[in-house]
Amino acid sequence: SLVVTGATGQLGRLVIDALLATVPAASVVAVVRDKEKAADLAERGVELRIADYDHPETLAGAFEAGDRVLLVSGSEVGRRVPQHTAVIDAAKAAGVAQLAYTGVLGGDEADFDLAAEHKVTERLILDSGLPYTFLRNGWYTENYTANLAPVLAHGAVVANAGEGRIASASRADYAAAAAAVLTGPAEEHLNKAYELSGDTAWSLAEYAAEVAAQTGREITYSNVPAEAHLAILTGAGVPAPFAEILVDVDRAVERGALARRTGDLARLIGRPTTPLAVTVKEALDRS
Ligand code: NDP
Repeated sequence: SLVVTGATGQLGRLVIDALLATVPAASVVAVVRDKEKAADLAERGVELRIADYDHPETLAGAFEAGDRVLLVSGSEVGRRVPQHTAVIDAAKAAGVAQLAYTGVLGGDEADFDLAAEHKVTERLILDSGLPYTFLRNGWYTENYTANLAPVLAHGAVVANAGEGRIASASRADYAAAAAAVLTGPAEEHLNKAYELSGDTAWSLAEYAAEVAAQTGREITYSNVPAEAHLAILTGAGVPAPFAEILVDVDRAVERGALARRTGDLARLIGRPTTPLAVTVKEALDRS
């Protein structure tokens, strides 16, 4: 079977959609922790296996020998190493044929805080000896467009990323790549690391200009020192640990860590990645 963990999450759902567009539902399995949340997937004919990364014993039934598995990295920063360890152990015990993992652009070389758990996870997968595919995802464009409300309210994109550029792509683009490595000829994708990012890298000044152009409003890019950005975020109610992560990400953007373009994503999905303007328009249409 083709097995997707985190299948009720934003990326996971898009991976399931992409799989169902090409393979019969009977070959698709969703590993979820909340059965109710996955009711629509079950209705579409997808098999549900209930498991929680935090409870290793629940993962015992999540995988079967020969499964091709996508481990969608967990969303609780700081807890992900034990969580992913549990998933990798279960995949190893079952004897899966492929373990694909959504890591971070740059892999071993990514030098920002959010990358640390991904690097450890890749190492654990290598040590497991399982056939792997590393999907080293760059930024989702939606990381920015999900935050349009304060941008529109203040007429400003506030960040400490300088003129750093971001080669982002849409979540659906990364999802299509994940589906491609699960459904494509295994020998093409096993024991490979893909550096996935958008075809075009944009700066936050360009992002502000795009939002301005599409709304007809004045939107500026306000590049502030890291400490000031941290104070703005915490002042707006963002919990300090998360605010620190956001500030660290901006520093990484400024260094160019999220600007890398290899063309891997467009190659895997067989089309150009989704342009910034398209994802901005989708978000504005929804707001
Ligand atoms: P979501 O938060 O929408 O999805 C995370 C998924 O992980 C959900 O399905 C969630 O289950 C599942 N999950 C979390 N904890 C557990 C657990 N203990 N046991 C079982 N399942 C669990 O994130 P996205 O889909 O947007 O992104 C996927 C992953 O990519 C993130 O988790 C994160 O690691 C990474 N990421 C990457 C970004 C990028 O720009 N490249 C940006 C943000 C995150 P449930 O549905 O029940 O909540």
